[in-house]
Formats: sequence, structure tokens, C-alpha cells
Amino acid sequence: MSMARRIGRTLPPAAAPLHVMDIVAGGVGLFRGSEAVKNFENELEEYYSVRNCYAVSSGKAALFLILQALRELSPGRDEVLIPAYTCYSVPSAIVRAGLKVQLCDLAEGSVDFDFDSLKGHLENPRLLCVISTHLFGLPADVERIKTLIKHRDIFIVEDAAQAMGGEWNSKKMGTLGDVGLFSMGRGKAFSTVEGGIILTDNELIGRAIKKRLDSIGGYTLSDYLKLFLYAVALAILINPRIYWLPKMLPFLKLGETRFDSSFPIMKLSPFQAGLTRGWRRRIADLKSARQQNAKKYVMHGMPMPCAISAIPDMIRFPVLMADADAKRSILRDSENAGLGIADGYPDSINNIKELQALFKGKEYPAAKDVAERIVSLPLHPFVTDDDIKNISSVLRMKNLYVR
Ligand SMILES: *Cc1c(COP(=O)(O)O)cnc(C)c1O
Repeated sequence: MSMARRIGRTLPPAAAPLHVMDIVAGGVGLFRGSEAVKNFENELEEYYSVRNCYAVSSGKAALFLILQALRELSPGRDEVLIPAYTCYSVPSAIVRAGLKVQLCDLAEGSVDFDFDSLKGHLENPRLLCVISTHLFGLPADVERIKTLIKHRDIFIVEDAAQAMGGEWNSKKMGTLGDVGLFSMGRGKAFSTVEGGIILTDNELIGRAIKKRLDSIGGYTLSDYLKLFLYAVALAILINPRIYWLPKMLPFLKLGETRFDSSFPIMKLSPFQAGLTRGWRRRIADLKSARQQNAKKYVMHGMPMPCAISAIPDMIRFPVLMADADAKRSILRDSENAGLGIADGYPDSINNIKELQALFKGKEYPAAKDVAERIVSLPLHPFVTDDDIKNISSVLRMKNLYVR
């Protein structure tokens, strides 16, 4: 891959910035210990009106724990249905939980399930759960899955990793399925460097997860050191004036997505719980900044990201390019000019090297098509009106995206 080495104002693709005062609050959390984590979980339970919220080390750790709990409740079932285009962490967690990945293709030109083929998958007697995913924060149709699997023994897991704080039809994303998860990783809607949240109003699922949580460990001293350094880096380096610098450091692995089922599974640390201080207000502010920027893209002629008339709460603004060449071309322009346009996941899930053998001979054309063509535009609070004008005009000039 040719990597532009640009020095000068460079937009990160996503940013939920930390401030020095947040890091100080992290220190206070550290001092309070497990109380700080319990307190954050209680605030989440209150805000989301669910009886069980648990804070852990990442979104994939959250998903792993959820899957293990569901397996315990439904031991005869071991297959997990996911969209054929999603974050690689999802199959990573499924494999880690000892379960089998099943793929359902997307509806043409969307990032949600093709519901016709979903129906067929729901007949599978080994199916443990369906993972409905709000990619970019775009609302996936959880209700429709619910009506399709009524009276059956299949759980709905809501992957709201990219949708913390997001609402749709006045409902809070993350609370729509049997159990949901958020990610607080870098590049997500709200960040504690890394982190994940499990939400469920289902007492059986809640209890099964709690039991597992009671036996898992926490962050070690060296984990803490890493967390602290990353937090400081996030507070300083995520600014567009300086972001070209970390972008040059390959060991930071910015924007990389990979299949890896050996991730740590820990409770959220008190330091991270401290970092969340004021999370409701901070999430509301981030959400409103992103929402306003999304409106401005639409005003500058960018296509609405989904069929519905209102603009949903997104973390980035997805755009489908005409073809793979158009995508490469716009990403090159973005690298050269520091526009913060991001590539999607590299390929559909069936083409992940470590998983290929499981899906031999099967095709997921809509997922493959999205993987080839999708990019996303930055929405975070560092994005200025001029940036939006710039980015929109580069896209319009090329005229290579799909309306
Ligand atoms: C980021 C992400 C995850 C995993 O979250 P981590 O905190 O990075 O482990 C899962 N699903 C989706 C859709 C994501 O974007």
C-alpha cells in the first residue's frame, strides 16, 4: 500500500476527544477503585432503563461474554448469524466463544440484513442468536427480526458498538434486542481508550453474565500504563493540527481492522470508569456536533445515508462509491489532502483468511459489493464547515458516488 506522508492539518476519521480534566477524573476513579465502575454501571442502568449493565474491557469482550451466557441458556444451539459485512471483531468473538459463524447477506445497497434470506436462516435448529448491527449508527431493523422469530428459541443480540447514545424513533439503541453491547474503543461514539458495555433487561441473561464476570480478572499494572499513555495520546494527538504525526507511526495501527480471537477479557478498570465522568452530557454534545455535520453534508449535496427521511445519529457518514476504482481514487485524494475519509472493512466476512474454509463455495454478493465501494466521511467535532465544503466538493467533482 502506498502511504502518503503528509505533514499538515489532517482530519482523523473519527474522534471522541479526551481532555486533560477527563484524565484527572480517571485518576480519581483509580483512587475510588471498583466503586467507580459500579457507579458507572448504575448510571447506565438508570439512563437506559435496563436492569443489568456491565462494563468490560472492549466491545468484543462484551460480545464474547454475551455469547457464552446465551450458550448456557440454550445449550443445544451453537450457531451465530451475523451480517456478511461487519466489524472483524464480531467473528473474532464468536470463534473465541467456541461457536460457529453463520453469514446472512445484506440487502442490496444497505448495511442491514437481506430479510428474505434471513427468514431461511431462522429455520436453522442450531441457531443460537442473530446479531443485528447498527453500522455507522445507522438503525438496523431489530423490530423486524423480532416479528420474524416470535415464539422461537433464538436470541437477538444488538450490536450497538458504533451507536452508544444513538436513538431512533425515540428508542435508545442498545436496548432493542434481548441483550445489547456498546464499544468505547478508539474511533467509537464515546471512548475510554478501550471498553465495552453489556446491557440487558433479561434477568436470566443478566445473571449468566454476572456469574462469568465475577470470575474474570482486571487490568494489570502494565495494562494500566498502556491505558494511561493512550489516554494522554488521545487527548493530544487526535487534534487535526497534529494528527499527521501519529498517522506516520505504524506501530499505533491506526484504522486497522483484523481478525484476532486472542483478545483480553477483563472488567473495565476504575481508571476508565473515571474517564467516563459526565458521559451523558459529553455524549449528547458529541451527538449534536455529528448530527449538525451530517446535515451540512446533505446540504452540500451528499446522498442521504439511508432510505428514511430523517438523518440518524451516525458516527461517520457512509457513502457508496460507483465502483472499487472510484473508492481507491477518493481514498487517495483523502490521504493527500488529510480529509479523514475512511475505508470500510477490507472484505466481506467469508473472505477473512482464517475463516475462508468455513464458507467455501458460498457467495455474499451484496456484502462483497459494499466492501468494494463504501467509504465514510468524518463527522466529529473537529470537522469544520470548510472541511465539509471541501470534502463534499471533492466527492462531487469526481461524481463517482451513488445517489
Ligand atoms: C468496534 C466494533 C466492535 C468491537 O468493539 P471493540 O471495542 O473494538 O472490541 C463490534 N462490532 C462493531 C460493529 C464494531 O464497530
